[in-house]
Amino acid sequence: MTDCIFCKIVDGRIPSKKVYEDADMLAFHDINPVAPVHFMIIPKKHVDSLATVGEEDAPVLGRMMAMAGRLAREQGSTEGFRTIVNTGRIGRQDVYHLHIHIIGGPDPLPRMIVQE
Ligand code: AMP
Ligand code: ZN
Repeated sequence: MTDCIFCKIVDGRIPSKKVYEDADMLAFHDINPVAPVHFMIIPKKHVDSLATVGEEDAPVLGRMMAMAGRLAREQGSTEGFRTIVNTGRIGRQDVYHLHIHIIGGPDPLPRMIVQE
């Protein structure tokens, strides 16, 4: 998708700090980290969101989840982490290219839903 910021990261039109890459997925550091470890795993293929994902995308989504633990440990989140997939207006999704946030670090995170 020509106008999608994460598609631009996939094809190198926008730089990123890469964590991992293979034929189907890319992981890179969030530009605005909310914890000492904060990166995202995305499919290279453009998919808008978890709300619209198709069954044909299940294998790559499964592989993305399966990579999360290894990548989090490599980034220094050795005792666990949080995965977040913001979805649609209700989920406050900002970038409409499916991404899994991996958030962690050496210390426990705040409880899950922080009141505004
Ligand atoms: P979400 O609200 O789940 O759609 O989150 C989008 C995330 O993308 C935010 O945490 C942003 O900080 C992050 N982000 C936006 N632009 C970039 C970029 N160019 N490189 C890395 N992360 C980005
Ligand atoms: Zn995209």
